[in-house]
Amino acid sequence: MRPAILTPLFASVSSLPGIGPKLVKLLTRLLGGAEPVGARVVDALFHLPANVLDRRRRPKLADAPIGELVMVEVVVERHRASGGKGPYRVYVHDDTGDLTLVFFAAQTSWIEHALPVGERRWLSGKIELFDGMRQMVHPDRIVDEEGLKSLPLVEPVYPLTEGLYPRQIQKAAQEALARTAELAEWQDPAWLKAQRWPGFREALAALHSPETPQVVAPDSAPRLRLAYDELLASQLALAMVRAHNKALPGLAVTGTGVISARIEAALPFKLTASQVTALADIRADMAAPIRMLRLLQGDVGSGKTVVALLAMATMVEGGRQAALMAPTEILARQHLATIQPLAEAAGLRVGLITGRDKARERTRMQAALKDGSIDIVVGTHALFQEDVEFRDLGLAIVDEQHRFGVHQRLALSRKNAGIDVLVMTATPIPRSLVLTYFGDMDSSQLREKPAGRKPVDTRLISLERLDEVVNGLGRLLQTGARAYWVCPLIAESETLDVAAAEDRYAHLVSLFGDKVGLLHGQMKGAAKDEVMARFVAGDLRVLVSTTVIEVGVNVPEATVMVVEHAERFGLAQLHQLRGRIGRGSDKSTCLLLYKGPLGEISRKRLEIMRETEDGFRIAEEDLKLRGEGDVLGTRQSGMPGFRVADLDSHRHLLAPANDDARLVLARDPELVSPRGVALRTLLYLFERDEAVRLLRSG
Ligand code: ADP
Ligand code: MG
Repeated sequence: MRPAILTPLFASVSSLPGIGPKLVKLLTRLLGGAEPVGARVVDALFHLPANVLDRRRRPKLADAPIGELVMVEVVVERHRASGGKGPYRVYVHDDTGDLTLVFFAAQTSWIEHALPVGERRWLSGKIELFDGMRQMVHPDRIVDEEGLKSLPLVEPVYPLTEGLYPRQIQKAAQEALARTAELAEWQDPAWLKAQRWPGFREALAALHSPETPQVVAPDSAPRLRLAYDELLASQLALAMVRAHNKALPGLAVTGTGVISARIEAALPFKLTASQVTALADIRADMAAPIRMLRLLQGDVGSGKTVVALLAMATMVEGGRQAALMAPTEILARQHLATIQPLAEAAGLRVGLITGRDKARERTRMQAALKDGSIDIVVGTHALFQEDVEFRDLGLAIVDEQHRFGVHQRLALSRKNAGIDVLVMTATPIPRSLVLTYFGDMDSSQLREKPAGRKPVDTRLISLERLDEVVNGLGRLLQTGARAYWVCPLIAESETLDVAAAEDRYAHLVSLFGDKVGLLHGQMKGAAKDEVMARFVAGDLRVLVSTTVIEVGVNVPEATVMVVEHAERFGLAQLHQLRGRIGRGSDKSTCLLLYKGPLGEISRKRLEIMRETEDGFRIAEEDLKLRGEGDVLGTRQSGMPGFRVADLDSHRHLLAPANDDARLVLARDPELVSPRGVALRTLLYLFERDEAVRLLRSG
């Protein structure tokens, strides 16, 4: 149970004074939060200022830096009301120069009242140059000498969303802080003292009312304190899961090798050296009486599925069942399609469980899993559900782990005591991040691509040349090519994304007719399957889609990938998308269509895509460019990542947090000491509380 002292923090922001439904909506858009609660008090609390408005700096107009927030003292000269739709302007000056204030769609009476002609006023806002003239659009404060005295000298500046005013988010943060109780210290006193960090509440108070600009910098003591708290919570949770897994006796399963040998003999290729090594690692883990918790990392197309199948075969040889779980329905079916013929030819009985099964079929499948007449089951998260029981599950393989959380991993491992877990991820993850997201899991890597794969020719093309691209596609289609056409995420709204894909679909249908299909997340499952099946069969030649095809889909005959608005995608996503092609024997082409002008980071990203296909290098570059969220694709998929810690600035705290967590658990595995109890609160605060349930006294 979450400690009662935290209850106010997990209430909706609507519980704060002055926050009505409209503001809740804006705050939820800014801070995230699932319906029906939306943004919570804790979300406002951890939404930290990115900058400050430093009112101690009060330059003369002539010296005021352009583009920065400043406070200037001016005399109001004259007003000019808008002619027609134009903005309302107010001309002001000091003894060094002039400034024009610009108001769009503003209430004139309010402006006249706030800026009386001939009077002195203090303004804060950003000065920009417009046709060589200084102007300030919508000053964020207009006060007289009296009003100035009541303004804070340094004011926090928060990341905002459209329609939300700085003062509203400031107020929300202050109210959230007021709801935050003084909490028992969970950091080690000696460590805290050596770091000279403030307490938790003190750190938040310092950040939300910064006295100097330095306070909000990533390396300030309050920031470091909170970043460490968050990293400690995550490392502790991972270490608890790990300790839990290790504490239970594992199964010691040695296969006979009979079934795996049959599968290997039936494969149309030889295993690569790294596939062989990975399998040896996995089989050694399974044979040892500990629980396997291993990460199988391999670039897109590196052949993880075969490794998974052979690992499952070994488990079945040892007399137990195995489960393979995919993040989406499409992928689960695809895995099944790959695995089933090989597995059944080798004598394995294979089943499927998804959220869309018909009731009769589902009942039959559940019975078969329970009585052991099925050896291997492939499925989606539906496998986690309580009513899915196994006769004797020995191995759970989770594909594309980053879309699941620790929570699901735990749910699955509860299906049987001591089961082995193999996590497969298609996004190569830099070493430092493996620790962050998976704790100290063992790891095997598939670094080489299977033989016979051709490099993909990647080109960057401006969207202005869309017509040429479409014509080129037409020519390729005549030679029998199959193509993916991916439409981007436009807004948070899936409906808008779907609309864009539908428009492009209609456009391409008008040119190429019924060879074109459409696939998106709002379609019914059966309709999706049908479109996919027609593309696999070659009946459809162009598959227009939103990013639902991002992960795992395998159609070796597809040789063209067009990504529209590629500048809006993260590197990891682009890499995943491109990995859909270059799988067969024909030459493949990836066209990244961008809309210029490109920002610095988007341009770099696209250039990296053109330069390399090495997933590990792409992952490292991605980390450099954008920080951790994108590397794992979590930002797009909306998984909770880190809210305070930023791995660019705080990576050096990861190792100490990891050591700290281990030491804590070595001394106080059940978290019952005073520090242990305080750490439980920390876990709840940063929502790593799945781990608490593992404790006997949890
Ligand atoms: P991943 O899941 O790692 O993205 P897959 O397991 O889907 O990759 O494999 C991609 C393709 O490569 C599949 O068509 C698979 O049959 C093939 N493949 C796997 N291993 C090998 C190998 N050792 N040699 C040649 N082809 C292979
Ligand atoms: Mg795969």
